[in-house]
Amino acid sequence: MVSEDRSTAKPSTGRRGPKPIEPAVRFWRMVNKTATCWEWTGHCKRNGYGEFDRGYAHRASWKLNTGQDPAAQVLHKCDNRKCVRIDHLFLGSIADNMRDKQLKGRAANKLTPEEVSEIRSSQGTQEDIGLRYDVDRTTIGRIIRRQTWSHVS
Ligand SMILES: [Zn+2]
Repeated sequence: MVSEDRSTAKPSTGRRGPKPIEPAVRFWRMVNKTATCWEWTGHCKRNGYGEFDRGYAHRASWKLNTGQDPAAQVLHKCDNRKCVRIDHLFLGSIADNMRDKQLKGRAANKLTPEEVSEIRSSQGTQEDIGLRYDVDRTTIGRIIRRQTWSHVS
């Protein structure tokens, strides 16, 4: 028969001692603001990123600065993994958007001269041709009007 002895249990109320420190206060204590990057001086994960409350320091920075949990990967513009400066960070979803835009508006200079010749002798609308070569319609139009690639026959 086991009887629970509550007399040795620590009381859960009436705890004394210092109040827990606000995450934001603990966070900024660990940041060294240089002229460029704001570097995390606390513990770093093995991959070189700062660690805060078992998560990434740069993600914590995003949350502290924006008040929102980052919805996507938080990436560095500055290539400094320890950096937590909010304007050096961006969300991965924005990077995806930029990549999308780049693909859609793929510049004419990504094409080869051979492709340019083919485009000029292609049948179909500029839109269809654009889809075939993964460049946008206006790029095709410029090529056909010889506003670009005029040195290619
Ligand atoms: Zn930075």
